[in-house]
Amino acid sequence: MSLPSTDPHSAAELVRTVQAGETTAAALLAAARARAEAASGLNALISLNDHADEQAVAVQSRLAAGESLPLAGLPMVIKDNLNLNGTRTTCGSRMLEHYVSPYTATAVQRLLDAGAVIVGKANMDEFAMGSSGESSAFGPTLNPWDTSRVTGGTSSGSAAVVAAGLVPVSLGSDTGGSVRQPAALCGVYGLKPTYGRVSRYGLVAHASSLDQIGPVARSAADLALLMNVIAGHDGRDATSLDAPPAFAAGTPEDLRGLRVGVITESLGGNTAGVSAVLNATLDALRGAGASVAEVSLPALKHAIATYYLISMPEASSNLARYDGMVYGSREPGGDVLGSMTRTRERGFGREVQRRIMIGTYALSSGYYDAYYSKATRVRRLIANEFSAAFADFNVLVTPTSPFPAFRLGEKMNDPLTMYAADVDTVAVNLAGLPALSVPAGFEEVDGKRLPVGVQFIAPALQDELLVRIAGGLEGIGAVRAEEAPGYAG
Ligand code: GLN
Repeated sequence: MSLPSTDPHSAAELVRTVQAGETTAAALLAAARARAEAASGLNALISLNDHADEQAVAVQSRLAAGESLPLAGLPMVIKDNLNLNGTRTTCGSRMLEHYVSPYTATAVQRLLDAGAVIVGKANMDEFAMGSSGESSAFGPTLNPWDTSRVTGGTSSGSAAVVAAGLVPVSLGSDTGGSVRQPAALCGVYGLKPTYGRVSRYGLVAHASSLDQIGPVARSAADLALLMNVIAGHDGRDATSLDAPPAFAAGTPEDLRGLRVGVITESLGGNTAGVSAVLNATLDALRGAGASVAEVSLPALKHAIATYYLISMPEASSNLARYDGMVYGSREPGGDVLGSMTRTRERGFGREVQRRIMIGTYALSSGYYDAYYSKATRVRRLIANEFSAAFADFNVLVTPTSPFPAFRLGEKMNDPLTMYAADVDTVAVNLAGLPALSVPAGFEEVDGKRLPVGVQFIAPALQDELLVRIAGGLEGIGAVRAEEAPGYAG
């Protein structure tokens, strides 16, 4: 089976055709569903949204009433850790297999208010823990570029649906790289906004001081379109920043004079193909008049240890609520403690259990100072090194991942190797910075072209600069989201 031809339209173009009356929200929804059906072998969706038809009808009547809807009729997919009233929100876990959301996340509500139609909920690593898309209780997501390989994680389905052309844009979440890394491995754009830029209200918490919702797209202009809708202050999230979005689609950055710092610590340990794509991107930047120099952030060598010593304790605390009493599918029988124990044993997969145990250990009395507390101090050191680097550079660059998509099963039994896949992404979350992965080229492996992403990191609140740089790189042909070739299955 091969995929029907990838939808050639951008989100902006689809919205324009609905606004102009050339097509309808219902027609776009039907087309997206047909593509989802044809691509079901990717296992990119956990559920379809039963309320999508109502949403499409509502869009048409609002348009008829003269409302202006910036995302009119746009078919979208959202990660299955984002609540949408009346739909299942499983977080890729058996624990929440039957959980139906009683409310809608702020970012999702803003999409609906702007006229988007939610086609379905995307597959993901369980509770957004993983780097491959394989830890989902609903099975792994397959990479549309090579279905024997992973998509990257944890927003595995969100990246796969955009790469395979089911929808032009989707939402994921990024705690340590989960939007950027699958975007890189699937050949699309993924933005992790500044911490606080997009409300976390209604995003199921993994590690609250790191979590951020972000868009996946096939162009810089579509990232801008989405960010203008989802970003901005929300009184329901205490960490929400009052920084109204000002993303201008179609105004690429003039790359002349841009000061680009390449992070020295990210240059070792990459595959030859990843190094070649990074170098080609840097050459393109130089060719366009940017200045490129190396900059060292020595504390980054502690980034992975620091990230996991902060994210696991936060996760162990956030996941304490799933005991089958109020949250989680209860395993009945015996006394309360027995029921809770069985609920957590059966409801959580291996990776989630591992993190709850390590996280609890790192927070326990006697170990707190040695692990969690020390990690919070190294976190500050990392943030300080970024600030110092931004005194000399407008943006920093690294590969998004040291390697392209690896084979299904290759790292599943070796957690440390899996964690090492996050070497280029986690420091950004520790420092709360915005970062964007752009599709910058390919590495050929076993006769297949596998996408390679390059990551741009900006100072806090300069998310707009990242999207403009991506636009500038598109303008000179240095980055581009190509159509995934379809798959045999
Ligand atoms: N791979 C990282 C982890 O497993 C990132 C997760 C994320 O960003 N949600 O924690």
